[in-house]
Amino acid sequence: MKVLRRCAFCGRTDSPLTKEHVYPRHWANFFPRSGTGPVNVFQTTPKGHVQRRGANHQFDEQVRDVCAVCNNGWMAELDEAAKTVVVSLGQATTAMMDASATSTFRSWATKIALVRTLQDKAHAQQAHEDRFHDFYRDRKPFGPLVVQAARCEMPHGDNNTSWVMPGANSATSNTVTVTLGRLLFQVGIFAPGDETYGPLTRLQLAAVRNMTKGKVRLVRDQRRFELGEEVTETEMMLVREPAALIGAGPAAENNISRTPIKRSRGGSFGNPYGVPNINDVAWQRYGDESL
Ligand SMILES: [Zn+2]
Repeated sequence: MKVLRRCAFCGRTDSPLTKEHVYPRHWANFFPRSGTGPVNVFQTTPKGHVQRRGANHQFDEQVRDVCAVCNNGWMAELDEAAKTVVVSLGQATTAMMDASATSTFRSWATKIALVRTLQDKAHAQQAHEDRFHDFYRDRKPFGPLVVQAARCEMPHGDNNTSWVMPGANSATSNTVTVTLGRLLFQVGIFAPGDETYGPLTRLQLAAVRNMTKGKVRLVRDQRRFELGEEVTETEMMLVREPAALIGAGPAAENNISRTPIKRSRGGSFGNPYGVPNINDVAWQRYGDESL
């Protein structure tokens, strides 16, 4: 007998799991494939930085953890609600979101980020399961400060899940970075009730803003949002690998033991771009600031 698996979002088992596109499939028309070769799918883990071959087109990437009811229902509706603003930002025909669009965008980006973590499920890097259920219930991001965006010009469709170093417990904290055309966005997801990783994720995201001189900006709820000038290619790499900024472990200032950075062939995330380590500079600078 076939065993039905649970939907990552609603948890039901009576609806077959469908192939859910990570990015809305029919938006491919708005973002024609550029360059040659497949999309770069990155994964930053406590052990290093891995680049995998993605689909030939970003919009072909799929996961199979979502039921048909969710996939064809509220998820499709959220895509539709966000479509105008995301497509225009991605095509760089606008640099602005009005207040209500920022709210929709934040929710949509969070949905994309959650689904994106499922792509790394085989590597135990999916977001905490409660976060899927929370999002199914509320359709809202997990805090006021965990979505940020910028404008960039990068190979189409690059994306990454970064996993902040696990500590004493098994909680996970993801930072998902996605480019969609000229739009870059980042979402921090930390395990619910986790007092260790929530601040760490926010510091990680604040570090990105620091290193890009504020060109990557918070998308605040119900506030008009304007994209700044474009991040450079170097900055873009920093954004894509935010774990590089915090090294391989949380800062000692947080009373968490720090794991020594190991360099390995093929690019560990030690300090690949020669930037000051967040542990040395930005951590304290941002420690007391409202993030
Ligand atoms: Zn479902």
